Amino acid sequence: MKAIRHFQTITKHKIYVMRECFRVGLYRQGLLHDLSKYSWTEFRIGCRYYQGTRSPNNAEREEKGYSSAWLHHKGRNKHHYEYWIDYNVNAGKDGRILTGMKMPVRYVVEMFLDRIAASKVYIGEAYNDSDPLRYYENGRAGELMHPETRALLEKLLHMLAEKGEEETYRYIRREVLRKKEG
Ligand SMILES: [Zn+2]
Repeated sequence: MKAIRHFQTITKHKIYVMRECFRVGLYRQGLLHDLSKYSWTEFRIGCRYYQGTRSPNNAEREEKGYSSAWLHHKGRNKHHYEYWIDYNVNAGKDGRILTGMKMPVRYVVEMFLDRIAASKVYIGEAYNDSDPLRYYENGRAGELMHPETRALLEKLLHMLAEKGEEETYRYIRREVLRKKEG
């Protein structure tokens, strides 16, 4: 049954992201991550286009020419840089140009952890710390990401690949999020 399998897929991902978020002290974001996937608008499409090997959004997009589930999703989840695309106020009076705004760092961190969680689910036992960077470099990283947002994401991906989770997560807590060590 597609509905059950879709539910299992999104829930497994959510648990993995929550685990990573808690390690850097992002408790609220860990709990709320991707919650809109359980809304009727997104869940219904996820079940209908469930394939098991790739995102149902891609299947919906191929059929309709757009993905209603993705448009709903990216408008509600701040860890997606697409959420932060807005008109550039510096583009001049006629310049209604869409640009990526700089993301608050806590959402950049959530975006980074989302990539780790997705890699861990996808690769399983064979996962290692350089996989998220490899995925990032092989994929299309949207041109609309703000340069400072991209720089932080890339810095964290490289740090993870070179120094591992412990050191990278400590850096996130102390330097990026400036959490007090408890
Ligand atoms: Zn999401």
